[in-house]
Amino acid sequence: MAAALVTDPQVIAGYLRDASNTTGHSEGLLRPGSTGEIAEIFALAQLKNMPITLSAERTSTTGGPVPHGGWVLSTERLGGLEIRGDQLRVGAAVRLGEIQEAAAEHGLFYPPDPTSWESCSVGGTIACNASGARSFRYGPTRPWVLSAEVVWADGRIQEVDRQTPIPADWPAPSWQPPGVKNATGFYPADNLLDLIIGSEGTLGLVTAATLRLLPLPEQVFSVLALFPDRRSGLDFVHQARSLPPKPRLIEWYDANCLALIRARIPELPAQARVAVWVEQETDLENEDNAIWSWAERIAACGGLEDHTLLAHDPASLQKLLHIRHAIPAGINEQVARNGMPKVGTDFSVPDSGLEEMMAAYDSVQMDHVLFGHVGDNHLHLNLLPTDPEELKAAWGIWEALYDRALSLGGTLSAEHGVGKLKAPYLRKLVGAQGIQEFEALKRAIDPAWILGRGTLLAAPITTSV
Ligand SMILES: Cc1cc2nc3c(=O)[nH]c(=O)nc-3n(C[C@H](O)[C@H](O)[C@H](O)COP(=O)(O)OP(=O)(O)OC[C@H]3O[C@@H](n4cnc5c(N)ncnc54)[C@H](O)[C@@H]3O)c2cc1C
Repeated sequence: MAAALVTDPQVIAGYLRDASNTTGHSEGLLRPGSTGEIAEIFALAQLKNMPITLSAERTSTTGGPVPHGGWVLSTERLGGLEIRGDQLRVGAAVRLGEIQEAAAEHGLFYPPDPTSWESCSVGGTIACNASGARSFRYGPTRPWVLSAEVVWADGRIQEVDRQTPIPADWPAPSWQPPGVKNATGFYPADNLLDLIIGSEGTLGLVTAATLRLLPLPEQVFSVLALFPDRRSGLDFVHQARSLPPKPRLIEWYDANCLALIRARIPELPAQARVAVWVEQETDLENEDNAIWSWAERIAACGGLEDHTLLAHDPASLQKLLHIRHAIPAGINEQVARNGMPKVGTDFSVPDSGLEEMMAAYDSVQMDHVLFGHVGDNHLHLNLLPTDPEELKAAWGIWEALYDRALSLGGTLSAEHGVGKLKAPYLRKLVGAQGIQEFEALKRAIDPAWILGRGTLLAAPITTSV
């Protein structure tokens, strides 16, 4: 095998944990630098029945890159970045932050913006069909990928796009995802590109991809509107959805988030119980009108007008970013103090289910913060247990909320994927037949089931800090 197998436990140790704080074990680490080497490794693994876990930047919150035995294959050496007109050819290892920088130098931008954009790899985002706040306007990663080079689990190398048919002998799952933002299960694809996107490293490895870029918007402005209660915040959300041009994001922060922000930015008014952050693209000519119409809507919905933060120049945009960053920073500090991992939801529901879902989140009796992509009816409830008993209870609360989301027509994961942590819960969404169909497809591509064992289709594992 051309790529050396690293067996030094100290080196391997760096590849055994992801952002979910779950840990695993592995007998060897491979860091191939070419497609040919990867194909050779997969072919050998099929023969030896050797499990392989694909690992990129390990920012996954669901345990997908955490190996449970076998080899870890890191994509870290699969670099390369070239802008061709309004397209970008990029190696799997390149981070989204590098893509944004390179695109901006050419007056272009790449819309997908997971919060982890500075550290996650583009290959990881394709594997998970990652989204970010801007998905309200631009959707997830999927529509921005034009083609990809894939090494399938059996070692075949193929450049795929939306014209590449799925082989006739691969069974097509009949399961259809609910009509909400979704990153759960194999996509009901009619081509190989859409099949590999979102397959979480279980069918093949994306070594490189061609991405579609857009011209950088002339002007972007952000509004952070504060409200005294959930009702007025929600009224504003409903209005914000219909204000043209479509905002690129509509985000929600509950009272507990505002408390975290206040700890760092005390001038935030005490009567604010909810904040809604909206961002819209405009041009210099229309900017004043756009700002006025936002201010009017905020006032009409009972917002705390005098405390609205409007940002359209680099300094004020930076201040808003500072406010936003206070939330993950505050949560991380709390998690460290508790010595327990947080338990986070990633459910989305249809428009009709948003208010019921929010009421369910608000009724939770454990320390928590609620924030996220309210424009897509996709909020993250972060439960913050303080001891092992509460951690167990947190998973009980998580499951009850999952049931609620399902009853409202929602999904298990809207953006983080299923990984290993949520695989035991997939059956509730797709049913026994759905699982069987997914397994049949997986076996057709990966006869020895070498890739991503335990991810997406799997048994439960335990969580540790
Ligand atoms: C602070 C924080 C914020 C986050 N915010 C968001 C967010 O806003 N939106 C969102 O969607 N996610 C978010 N995430 C989750 C995570 O960043 C994304 O899922 C990201 O796409 C993972 O990329 P990665 O390079 O870290 O991949 P990894 O975590 O290393 O791997 C993720 C999965 O993809 C597989 N994989 C990796 N590379 C490849 C490849 N080249 N080919 C095939 N399979 C591969 C792995 O086997 C694994 O199953 C966040 C995570 C953190 C820690």
